Amino acid sequence: MINSLKQINLKAKTILMRVDYNVPIKNGKVLDSFRIKSSIPTIRYCLNQGASLVLCSHLGRPNGSYDEKYSLIPVGETLADLLESQIKFSNSCISEDSHDVTLGLKPGEVHLLENLRFHKGETENDPEFSSLLAKHGEVFINDAFGTAHRMHASNVGVLKFFHQKGIGFLIENELKYLKQAIQDPTKPFVVVLGGAKIKGKLDLIYHIIPKADSVLIGGGMAFTFLKAKGKGIGKSLVDNSMISDAKKILYEARNHSVKLVLPSDVVISENLDSPKEKLTVSVSNMPDEMGGYDIGNETINKFGEIISNAGTILWNGPMGVFEKEDFAGGTRGIAEICAKGKEINQTVIVGGGDTASAVNQFGLASEMSHVSTGGGASLELLSGNQLPAILALEKP
Ligand code: AMP
Repeated sequence: MINSLKQINLKAKTILMRVDYNVPIKNGKVLDSFRIKSSIPTIRYCLNQGASLVLCSHLGRPNGSYDEKYSLIPVGETLADLLESQIKFSNSCISEDSHDVTLGLKPGEVHLLENLRFHKGETENDPEFSSLLAKHGEVFINDAFGTAHRMHASNVGVLKFFHQKGIGFLIENELKYLKQAIQDPTKPFVVVLGGAKIKGKLDLIYHIIPKADSVLIGGGMAFTFLKAKGKGIGKSLVDNSMISDAKKILYEARNHSVKLVLPSDVVISENLDSPKEKLTVSVSNMPDEMGGYDIGNETINKFGEIISNAGTILWNGPMGVFEKEDFAGGTRGIAEICAKGKEINQTVIVGGGDTASAVNQFGLASEMSHVSTGGGASLELLSGNQLPAILALEKP
């Protein structure tokens, strides 16, 4: 059994909490604060219970040594703004000075530690590093869903140093929605997939096909399926090593009577970077010298009709290169259709990473039932795999 936050007496305790503040940063400013905002309910609850909090996180891949561009200082500034109070910050997560700051914390105070991955011990799950990190609290709470598929010191190694440990509201919510999606979705269950790579989503596709009623495929990965069906795809993204898997998936879908729907029209251009000539064409008429970078209106409407009749919608992967306004229409169109789900009692679950960024960018995140904060972790869970950091918390 995993303890939830409300099962633990937090009054006057110092809590070490693993959070996921792996956020994009440019010129010392946080570009997307979704993950930081998502940690606030758990933080506020702990502080209101009279606890003091030590927060730890990784940011990027600094490979075990200090690198200013991966410092959590900008995150600390955003966090202080969101909490509307000052927080303490330590330049090392395991130094004596940082332990002293923790010892001096009063109830209601927050101490953010510098990037865990400035020390090799974090990703190596080193016992010495884990014991030094564990000195920061009497209670351990994991609320970092984005790293739950990793077995690191801050989410697995530290656990043996704590009697009182559990998960925060963010992880609790992620498990509730993502497990429900694969175990007990309200029917019809519609899965919308997109993005560039098929490879990372293969396990999910095979796991979900027997449970889904419809699978709608857009984004760059659709072209590998279209090629597998014998269509000309011009200069569009294709993974030739996945053609046989694509054929197998098309076969599996037929075998399970699952409606697998591919785009019927796409937005094409000669060049992704400076689209002089942007056209929408049928997938049967793709010129050799152009590439497809978004789904067209006919496809948005076709997908939209199926989505509107769903009970549960699981969406993972953008429909086009949404980072460029010229090719954001398909992803925005699908996001707008999904955003109407609340009114008609649909459960709309948006998988992490780029799709979460897209719905946040369109200002539609709050309209979804759940937007996952974890890319890799949500894919693992939706593929039916266990998450090591969650499994480790189940042990006494
Ligand atoms: P993934 O990590 O596989 O989910 O891929 C996400 C990326 O796929 C985003 O950065 C999109 O820009 C990209 N993407 C979506 N559609 C296309 C497309 N038609 N061609 C190339 N890239 C695409």
